[in-house]
Amino acid sequence: MFNIKTEINSRMLLHICCAPCALSPVPVFTESAAEFDAFFYNPNIFDEAELALRLDEVKKIAGIFDFKLFIKNDEYSKFINYISGLESEPEGGKRCEKCFELRLGAAFEFAAGNGYKYVATTLTTSPHKNIKLINSIGASLSIKHGGIVKLIEFDFKKADGYKKSIDYCKKYSIYRQNYCGCHFSKR
Ligand code: SF4
Repeated sequence: MFNIKTEINSRMLLHICCAPCALSPVPVFTESAAEFDAFFYNPNIFDEAELALRLDEVKKIAGIFDFKLFIKNDEYSKFINYISGLESEPEGGKRCEKCFELRLGAAFEFAAGNGYKYVATTLTTSPHKNIKLINSIGASLSIKHGGIVKLIEFDFKKADGYKKSIDYCKKYSIYRQNYCGCHFSKR
């Protein structure tokens, strides 16, 4: 499994994309008394009602597992401008690369400005996400921040992490969305 206590010696900032994906690492971190705070920044989610619903579910699990949650808001237009020119890319292609970069970039900025040395992301829970790409974006962002913040290269779907996250969703009645986030992914 992912034992952060043996890997890092400082509080971590966990970027949360949604409650279902967070339910792979959060119970493990909580059980092992790992020190982490969470950060929700996902301007890629369409539409406003869906974003509010997903955020509410993250707040719900923050209450259940008792972790601190920071929220950064941006308009959907921020995402649309950021991925401009990549609208017709398939899911998993260049648009998603920019989408990861936008969200992880904000997490790194928040971490750097608030004394965190490590960032991790629940994006790695999903079997649909390219973990090598996520790790390479993390490495680039770390260089951008002079190496003071690093991405911990967890793979949260390991050790049945994805399956366990589904089980936790059932246990706590957490809403599981049926599309990734942007309106392109609803096609
Ligand atoms: S499909 Fe998902 S990861 Fe890709 S751009 Fe849309 S919201 Fe982002």
